[in-house]
Amino acid sequence: MKSLQSINFKNKKALIRVDFNVPLNAQFQVTDSTRIVSAKPTIMKVLEDGGSCVLMSHLGRPESKESAFSLKHIVRTLETVLGVEVLFSSSCIGEDAQKFCDNLKPGQILLLENLRYHSDETRGSENFAKELSKLGDFYINDAFGTAHRAHASTTIIAKFFPENRCFGSLLAQEIESIDKVMQTGEKPVLAILGGAKVSSKITIIDNILNKVDHLIIGGGMTFTFVKAQGGSVGDSICEDDKMELALQILERAKAKNVQVHIPVDVLAADEFSNHANTQIVDVRRIPENWQGLDCGPKSKALFHEVVQQCKTILWNGPLGVFEMEKFSTGTIALGNSIAEATKNGAFSLVGGGDSVSAVKQFGFENKVSYVSTGGGAMLESLEGKILPGIAAFSK
Ligand code: AMP
Repeated sequence: MKSLQSINFKNKKALIRVDFNVPLNAQFQVTDSTRIVSAKPTIMKVLEDGGSCVLMSHLGRPESKESAFSLKHIVRTLETVLGVEVLFSSSCIGEDAQKFCDNLKPGQILLLENLRYHSDETRGSENFAKELSKLGDFYINDAFGTAHRAHASTTIIAKFFPENRCFGSLLAQEIESIDKVMQTGEKPVLAILGGAKVSSKITIIDNILNKVDHLIIGGGMTFTFVKAQGGSVGDSICEDDKMELALQILERAKAKNVQVHIPVDVLAADEFSNHANTQIVDVRRIPENWQGLDCGPKSKALFHEVVQQCKTILWNGPLGVFEMEKFSTGTIALGNSIAEATKNGAFSLVGGGDSVSAVKQFGFENKVSYVSTGGGAMLESLEGKILPGIAAFSK
């Protein structure tokens, strides 16, 4: 398969699937341009070669052609980020779009209207994909955030460019980072799984046990494991119907020689509130009417030691209710530990939902090796699934 860098786009039109599904405020201004900034390297590579870019994306989940979901709202921000004028086509297929593309000159950028104004996009319609394919000489997929969807523009379209297709630099980086953890990472490999519930992480735990040497289980999941082993968890979040499963996970980990680390102490609260009274208690002896909402000092020290031993680190899910300041210190301490290990040469990947928000909120973004841009796509990769958008390139 060709790489982006190996292709010369001089006088060529690159049809690029980007993920510009960005948040807008009530005035339809972009409030977080991370996804636009992430797409810049691929777009600039094409322009610097002397090619032109036709950008396509979805925005939100429109049910009809609602103007609130128009990609015209992001044109200004896109121009600011790229430093290049951006043309806009109010249709993404058909005569008008085609005319726009035919007139596109090297160095120019055209943004197509929201792909999801057509239900054929999410339906994965072959006809719709074929129509889109007429708009470029090359197809580049740089939308990791939607790579787990078999939509027309993310997956089906690839077949219309059997030779002229490649991943964009963002997508390639995402794939490489996941591979570093799941396949090629230097040992010892550590996965840290936090978050609320065992039930939502079980497929990841199952898959990850085959890849890692150490597993830290934290956050709300802790208590299902502790109670299953005979501890008292008070009012802490706990899935009683998953206790058997928790014991099986521990057995499987033992059989695979994976060392599992669970908090030994917690910061317990008498209510689920930032104003709660708190005390540090042994994780196995949480008093009645109290709930563990963060890990305690001994756990922080224990996790710090494990993190420093490891050369490859994956972090998914916070270690406590980090949205409340009082219960954020476990997650912050872990962020610091990972930052230190990274500085000392470890590779660290943060991905999937709330850990990404935590990393951004507490300023660790530039202190870890890579922060994934795709929530669902990242989680499915960790579950061991081959994403349709990626699989389409090997057909
Ligand atoms: P997830 O989406 O599964 O990664 O879960 C993230 C959520 O888990 C965050 O909103 C945290 O507030 C929550 N969480 C972490 N630790 C705990 C805990 N000890 N008790 C209740 N919720 C928790």
